[in-house]
Amino acid sequence: MLFSTPGADTTEDFANSPSSGPNALPALPNRFAALGLNANLLRAIEATGYTEPTPVQEQAIPVALAGSDVLVSSQTGSGKTAAFMLPALHRLSAGQAAAGTGPRLLILTPTRELALQVTKAAEVYGKFLRRIKTVAILGGMPYPVQNRLLRQGIDVLVATPGRLLDHLQRGRIDFSRLEMLVLDEADRMLDMGFIDDIETIVAATPATRQTLLFSATLDGTVGKLAAKMTRSPKRIEISSAHARHENIEQRLHFADDLSHKNKLLQFLLRDASINQAVVFTATKRDADTLAHSLVASGFAAAALHGDMRQGERNRTLNAVRSGGVKVLVATDVAARGIDVLGISHVINFDLPRQAEDYVHRIGRTGRAGRQGVAISLASGKDIGAIRQIERYTAHPIPVHTIAGLEPRFAGRAPAKKPAGRRPGSPRSTSYSTRNRTAPRRSA
Ligand code: AMP
Repeated sequence: MLFSTPGADTTEDFANSPSSGPNALPALPNRFAALGLNANLLRAIEATGYTEPTPVQEQAIPVALAGSDVLVSSQTGSGKTAAFMLPALHRLSAGQAAAGTGPRLLILTPTRELALQVTKAAEVYGKFLRRIKTVAILGGMPYPVQNRLLRQGIDVLVATPGRLLDHLQRGRIDFSRLEMLVLDEADRMLDMGFIDDIETIVAATPATRQTLLFSATLDGTVGKLAAKMTRSPKRIEISSAHARHENIEQRLHFADDLSHKNKLLQFLLRDASINQAVVFTATKRDADTLAHSLVASGFAAAALHGDMRQGERNRTLNAVRSGGVKVLVATDVAARGIDVLGISHVINFDLPRQAEDYVHRIGRTGRAGRQGVAISLASGKDIGAIRQIERYTAHPIPVHTIAGLEPRFAGRAPAKKPAGRRPGSPRSTSYSTRNRTAPRRSA
């Protein structure tokens, strides 16, 4: 079951539904065509293989095309990039560019990885449009190259706030012909401390611009920021199956100590159903150490964290995309925005510090409507953090155990003890678990 669309009585995988041949589905009304996008964008959508818009696309695109400011609460994985990129490109290709070389569309993203994905999306969706020049300005990349790029005529500028502000303060950016501003994952940018940078950047853009803001939540500081920088915005709240992570099976394993955790991890990673996994650690150093020890144990593992040079990060990500790396050991910020369909499992070796990060982490699997598994390893001291996560997601995480690797610490152990089988026995292609759903707590 994929992007569930209100009003649709089918729950097919939009991207993979056969449209012709013996298994052809009955023709569905093409809801993309009804959104008002120009023919060249529809051609590009067709070339991607998407057949129907996701709920966030279906709701946000017409409102954005009508010229309104829009606030959208939607999760990563919901198809939100196309929800802003398609109407933005439509606007650029329809209107006459004012004289100048500055960007007509600015997209701010929290991380370099997400910025690169958004840049790629601009190229994919804009490939049948003429004269759309896209530039990414990210931290960690050489200034001279960026200075040269900024001197050329730009249509779409995708940037992380810190580096963009640097260039702005050095007078290298001209926002005089900016028509549209998009804040992608605004909540995350605020979490990362970019509020002042964002406010300075926004203040330098024309008041006549159209503003689209995407965020997991529109409450609290995000809501205040949105109120300051938008005019009579339309508010769209998406509660798709994906947003509720119904396509991701969540499990909790209790571990007594680090050595027990390592045994559990190794056992879980040998599960035959794993295609690729992202393992999250609390620190960059732990990511390196764990990746090394997994490589030593024979796993095609690699680390990804913020202390690595951009070139190294890109190489690692490419290796994940091509399937050469099966186990990526990452920290929160580095893994933000990773969109690799092959990631079947997310394993929290350490729990995240904040409940929101849990949601972002598990969203690395179950991409584009696929099924995913998210496993958290926790010890007795993590009970409070688990409660917070369960309150935040309004979803209790069932406790599982592995026969032969049961924890001494009871935690919220399964009601029944699993039958004793030694872990990793040659005959076991998948691990046997029992689960008990924890009693629902009031939020
Ligand atoms: P996003 O939420 O923008 O990160 O997108 C998540 C994933 O969904 C990406 O891999 C997109 O390529 C994919 N996607 C976006 N729109 C659609 C659609 N209408 N049908 C199928 N897949 C989509």
